Amino acid sequence: MSDKITLLIDQDGVIAKWYPEFLKRWKAKYPDKPFVDVGQLKSFYIEDGYPEEDHDKIQYIIRNGDFYESMDPMDGALEALKDMQLNCQDFIDPYICTAPELDFTALDCHSQKARWVRNHLGEWWLKRMVLTKDKTLVRGHILIDDKPTITGAMKPTWEHMVFTSSYSGMPEGHTFSWKDWPTLRDTIRAHQQEQAEKSAIIQPDKSIILLG
Ligand SMILES: [Mg+2]
Repeated sequence: MSDKITLLIDQDGVIAKWYPEFLKRWKAKYPDKPFVDVGQLKSFYIEDGYPEEDHDKIQYIIRNGDFYESMDPMDGALEALKDMQLNCQDFIDPYICTAPELDFTALDCHSQKARWVRNHLGEWWLKRMVLTKDKTLVRGHILIDDKPTITGAMKPTWEHMVFTSSYSGMPEGHTFSWKDWPTLRDTIRAHQQEQAEKSAIIQPDKSIILLG
């Protein structure tokens, strides 16, 4: 078993710009219809911001075409994930943990999400993808996710760090965004070093090796 901190990272709204992609397509397809601007959504569920008569049109946009493959990366996300891959492997075990849209044409959302990861982050991250509709089934220490409340079949093993958004319902300073990554990384590293020192004290034989 690994002593590393297992970090689970959501895809839509955390490393990929989901709502901006929707809005770009909405405005192109329905230029005369009202819309909620980026940064103004008050609910995680997009339909809450639009009249009921438009809900079918919304669902068509997010369930067809190359929607999930086309999203731009979130600001700072690729840099943070590259940092995890290149500089943090001895104390963090990171995975992308994402819920696919099951009603997407021919179930292609799963493949598009994987292609997005391969295109933007490469093969190393592609092997670290967990696709599930229930994130409580996935074990880990921390889950970074923009969905304000996450429930499922199990009691989660992870602590939920809510990613910053206009719909988090939380004051600033209580949510996480990628500008906070260096602080989180350094906190995890300090915690892991502290744990290693504790075990060196408890196990004197190993402490000789650890302290050199
Ligand atoms: Mg999300």
